[in-house]
Amino acid sequence: MDIPGLYSFIDTLTRQHDQLRMVRCFLDLLTKEFSAQDASYYEVHSHNLKNKEKQNNDQQEVPRLYNPLVNKNTIVEFDEQLRNVYKSREMFIGDTSETDGRRCIYPVVVGLQVFGLIDFKIPAHENKVMEQLGFLIRLFGNLFILIYKKERDGLTGLLNRLDFENRVHRIINHNFGNERRVGAPDDLCIAIADIDYFKKVNDEFGHLFGDEVLVHLSQLMNRSFRDQDLICRYGGEEFAIAIHGVGINSATRILERFIKAVQAYQVPQVGSVTMSVGVVQVTKKELLTNIIDKADKALYFAKENGRNQVQAYETLVAEHKLQEVDARAGDIELF
Ligand code: GH3
Ligand code: MG
Ligand code: MG
Repeated sequence: MDIPGLYSFIDTLTRQHDQLRMVRCFLDLLTKEFSAQDASYYEVHSHNLKNKEKQNNDQQEVPRLYNPLVNKNTIVEFDEQLRNVYKSREMFIGDTSETDGRRCIYPVVVGLQVFGLIDFKIPAHENKVMEQLGFLIRLFGNLFILIYKKERDGLTGLLNRLDFENRVHRIINHNFGNERRVGAPDDLCIAIADIDYFKKVNDEFGHLFGDEVLVHLSQLMNRSFRDQDLICRYGGEEFAIAIHGVGINSATRILERFIKAVQAYQVPQVGSVTMSVGVVQVTKKELLTNIIDKADKALYFAKENGRNQVQAYETLVAEHKLQEVDARAGDIELF
């Protein structure tokens, strides 16, 4: 790669402010400039392995791998080489003698966690080219960390509100937008969950313990929902969850199971807390503020009616317990 090509690439890569776009840009570079073949990116999900699964596999925990650029729902096989890189957190460069190219696997590490794996094959390049590749991979890794942190909440590590909203917008546009889609739209439900009487926790135990509760509940959320669901710290002690692939009835059941798990969980020193949840299904192209408004109204109803419960907007409207939220003018144009 010549110097102008290098500058141009750095310029393009540093202009990507979205994780997957940046990854795609990097895989393109590997393919075009380094003649890489089968360049792929796998996302690693280990957070919601059940505790039992984790204990049984203490020595060789096997998290799940997805290829979010191809199909976010299909699990990719974790072969031995990928597993080694995941465990060692060190880049693997295969033997030059391999006829169909050297396999390279780069672990995308944030803190101590392997967040993804870049997997590709390259022909036998001279050392100078390999050095350049090494530099670009490190540059990519550093940028990835910056983008990852920008998208997360500092205390809990969950998605922050802005990034959650961006991702949900993309799903809604994909489901109900004009672009051609293959297959039926993925069902999508949005929930808002709020800790009950959280002020009391702060008053009784202090703000630091309040923060601890937020961290514990976030970890419980990561374990309770599926890899494809989006979990966000929406603000303060409020969380937003985007549940994929299920309608409102199943989403309600999933959330009810979750709040039971919350109630049963003992936060060290603090004890048990409860949560109330409002949920709504997205059935058309609608402004996210409108959707959140509906979930919020259902949440408010849950708070008013005893807390520690899940309420679905649709059910409350059907039972005349809530007035329908009017779609705001300009919903469609604003998208
Ligand atoms: P309700 O059941 O009606 O939700 O009662 P509540 O006490 O949870 O609700 P309220 O909204 O009145 O209070 C929320 C409290 O959450 C107030 C605020 O001090 C606390 N809080 C918000 N963000 C944080 C945070 O980051 N850390 C801690 N420790 N407390 C927070
Ligand atoms: Mg609140
Ligand atoms: Mg609260």
